[in-house]
Amino acid sequence: MIPEIQMDSVCMKTDVQWRANIINWRTRSKMTGIVVDREFSLSSRYIPQCQERQESGLVKDMYKYIEVKGNSFVLSLDNHVEVTEALTAFCKEKGILSGTVSGIGAISEATFRFLDPAIKQYVDRTFREQMEVTNLTGNISQKNGEVYLHLHLTASRRDYTCIGGHLLSARINGACELFVESFPGAYTGRRPDAETGLNLYEFK
Ligand code: FE
Repeated sequence: MIPEIQMDSVCMKTDVQWRANIINWRTRSKMTGIVVDREFSLSSRYIPQCQERQESGLVKDMYKYIEVKGNSFVLSLDNHVEVTEALTAFCKEKGILSGTVSGIGAISEATFRFLDPAIKQYVDRTFREQMEVTNLTGNISQKNGEVYLHLHLTASRRDYTCIGGHLLSARINGACELFVESFPGAYTGRRPDAETGLNLYEFK
């Protein structure tokens, strides 16, 4: 039997074969109503199986997900998307304004931001090379009613050394597997702090 789960605009059909850890996905684009079928393996990368019912290629999915319990989600971000863009879109879709995120993956580019506290000045630096995301961790809050992500990422290079820091953006090249937990009802806002130059948590 195929359980049919309605999740807002996303229609997710699950052919759950837990022994094989295979899930068949059916997603419907909010914008166009176009349906896309794919086979997704929880233990490896998803394998495009069914023909996409589109000719134009205008639809750009950014993620697949399942709700694993109450307020927790497993996300698989699509290859070549930008991590913060896709995660922000997911949070908007699910109405998540407070929560936590963690994950791993592989990327071809990352931009980090370093704040020099002595001069309160940001230094941004972009690394363009293939890297393993050994850890992505952070939180979800809100600023002026909009999703506000605070993410840190550590990535290992070809020579197995690591770089990392406060993440501005990262381009997936391979996979990106995230866990998101939302905290419904909790207000975690942001306010600018003159002393540090940071947007600090604001609680109510
Ligand atoms: Fe930071």
